Amino acid sequence: MALIVCEQLHLTYGLESDVPIEALHGIDLTIDEGEFVAVVGRNGSGKSTLARCLNGLLRPTSGRVLVNGLDTALRQHRLTIRSTVGMVFQNPDNQFVMSTVREEVAFGPENLGVPRPELIERVDRALRLTGLADLPDVDPQHLSAGGKSRLAIAAMLALAPRCLVLDETTALMDPLARRETLALAQELCRQGLTIVWVTHHMDEVAEAARVVALDHGLLGYDGTPHALFADRALCAKLGLDLPPAAQVAHGLIDRGLSLDTLPLNAAELVDSLARAWEGRS
Ligand code: ADP
Ligand code: MG
Repeated sequence: MALIVCEQLHLTYGLESDVPIEALHGIDLTIDEGEFVAVVGRNGSGKSTLARCLNGLLRPTSGRVLVNGLDTALRQHRLTIRSTVGMVFQNPDNQFVMSTVREEVAFGPENLGVPRPELIERVDRALRLTGLADLPDVDPQHLSAGGKSRLAIAAMLALAPRCLVLDETTALMDPLARRETLALAQELCRQGLTIVWVTHHMDEVAEAARVVALDHGLLGYDGTPHALFADRALCAKLGLDLPPAAQVAHGLIDRGLSLDTLPLNAAELVDSLARAWEGRS
């Protein structure tokens, strides 16, 4: 079932100014409930603008965005839409306002007037899901980078969203924190949450079921990561690197090795090389 629908979404910044910037040029995109969608594209291609349109932080200049059937342009839907689609940004620190982990997670739903027993239940669940259950009294500023992103996610989960949009949340993280954050998003998706994962890390894209690439404010690709990374010309046009395993595989294919599928990560590369080795002669 469609959770988010963009219809001919146009977004122009500074409409009143002398030099308006057209960031999105007519995007048609449907995201179904429960999907894990990676969003990629070079800097300035419109990823963050699109992300902000998905929960009504930005309203279309023309076209429509519907969240669970509700038009983001209408003021009366704003709160419902913001709690249906939660946003996590690149520096979660900037989002924190409270002095303990538990208070931070309770802050959003408390403000929405969620009744006490349900509030406690939601906060406990969010802390448990994000592995923060043992750290309720810690100052958010004292968490590791991975811990901060988990807290930002927990704070959103406490609003009982159906979708999380993570806008380059892992961009400044070390590899361990990146893996931790991606694994958490994948687990939440398995539990039914829709995930929109904006990134420029191609190894993360390889883990998504679907990739949407933006190209100068237009949809440049919408499909599986395998089909995307199989097409080197398209990746070059979109300004995307290939995941290292796919680079190695393309190099070997260029030299005449035949592989049955294009591997996108180290484990898949080992498997296809092993199969090619067994089938040699
Ligand atoms: P990305 O996240 O892919 O790097 P953005 O959505 O941030 O792309 O930006 C798309 C285009 O819109 C760029 O040309 C950028 O300079 C412009 N832009 C983004 N935010 C603003 C803003 N607040 N005001 C004016 N122009 C903006
Ligand atoms: Mg961005």
